[in-house]
Amino acid sequence: MEKNPDVLIIGGGLAGLAAAIHLSRNNLKITLLEKSGYPRHKVCGEYISNEILPYLQWLDADVSALHPTNISKFEFTTHNGKAAKAKLPLGGFGISRYALDDFLCQKAVANNCTIIKETVTDVSFDDDLFTVTTSNQILKAKIVLGAFGKRSNVDQVLDRNFISKKSPWLAVKAHYSGTLDNDVVALHNFKGGYCGVSKVENNMINICYLADYATFKQYKNIEDYQQNVLYKNKHLKNVFENSTLLFDKPLTISQISFDKKQAVENHILMIGDTAGLIHPLCGNGMAMAIHSAKIASELILDYYSDEKISRELLEKNYTKEWKKHFGKRVFMGRILAQILTHKTITNILVAIVASFPGLLPAIIKQTHGKPIAIN
Ligand SMILES: Cc1cc2nc3c(=O)[nH]c(=O)nc-3n(C[C@H](O)[C@H](O)[C@H](O)COP(=O)(O)OP(=O)(O)OC[C@H]3O[C@@H](n4cnc5c(N)ncnc54)[C@H](O)[C@@H]3O)c2cc1C
Repeated sequence: MEKNPDVLIIGGGLAGLAAAIHLSRNNLKITLLEKSGYPRHKVCGEYISNEILPYLQWLDADVSALHPTNISKFEFTTHNGKAAKAKLPLGGFGISRYALDDFLCQKAVANNCTIIKETVTDVSFDDDLFTVTTSNQILKAKIVLGAFGKRSNVDQVLDRNFISKKSPWLAVKAHYSGTLDNDVVALHNFKGGYCGVSKVENNMINICYLADYATFKQYKNIEDYQQNVLYKNKHLKNVFENSTLLFDKPLTISQISFDKKQAVENHILMIGDTAGLIHPLCGNGMAMAIHSAKIASELILDYYSDEKISRELLEKNYTKEWKKHFGKRVFMGRILAQILTHKTITNILVAIVASFPGLLPAIIKQTHGKPIAIN
């Protein structure tokens, strides 16, 4: 086991695993600490934008081996059942996190990364070196990547700004069998939230929604909530009534914060949701997580290969690049979420979009990136 790696990564979701593969391809010694095992289900809409395909291919992680569902169309419906449809400017694919995270983990292991199933309990920085503590051991590294997702005990250790604030959002996800168009990702609005529906591999349907806790807690359980709130949108009622749950019960998470975060904190370069979470309605968090791993990895490789690059410059450059690539997207996601959780404005917006077919793809482009360039 690599006790003193070149780079230590906390968290093995998409961001952590992509960085592990990228850095190990370039001969750095990598240790990744992940608290859960693989494979496992995660709360996620599992629609992933095609913008990351060139990078995944460069990482030698060709996801076509997992037989994802190709998705080229977008449908949006309002509380009262009005619908707008558009071709997705770039398109994407549906793949479960169960399959994708496990696939990337295997790639990282094949590249000689050390992956340890342990929870990080503390991280500190002294004398230009990090000390990372788990329940079993203490590790040291010159560089630490924070890839621990949207909310973690590590955020508490670092006393990050957003962590003490309560968030009104919770999310529910499950896989279903049933009949659904393969090539469509749908976003259905309901009171206090929105629900994504699309296919992943093996013909499974992913139904995943974000809901406001204030409305949710008025109902007995998930089933009661869905029937009384989500079913008010006739499209959602139709989807649920014609699908069969494949999980024992849906997965849930709460306290989902969309507050601003810092890209670098206590000298840790934050990647993926740890640096900032875009509203899931944009269907873009996974692509951003993987893209931010690329940006951080390239800068770390420069840092290790060029003595003139100081830690300070590395941190400054990463913060600048993060803002350049993702700042506007996260901001637009926040604005769109505010609009889409307002019933009247949403109805007006859908009526406008239905009359101007070019408008919806233009809005989608605001929250999506271009295909990731490989130099
Ligand atoms: C409801 C919902 C729907 C979404 N739908 C979509 C969608 O359709 N398309 C899309 O592109 N994006 C979607 N997203 C966003 C997407 O899920 C995230 O952006 C993406 O998972 C970020 O990946 P990550 O690697 O940053 O974090 P994660 O995948 O969350 O990985 C973080 C990892 O860190 C580990 N960890 C945490 N703390 C510790 C610790 N102390 N020690 C060790 N390990 C630790 C966790 O176990 C976890 O595996 C959605 C998000 C939500 C909330």
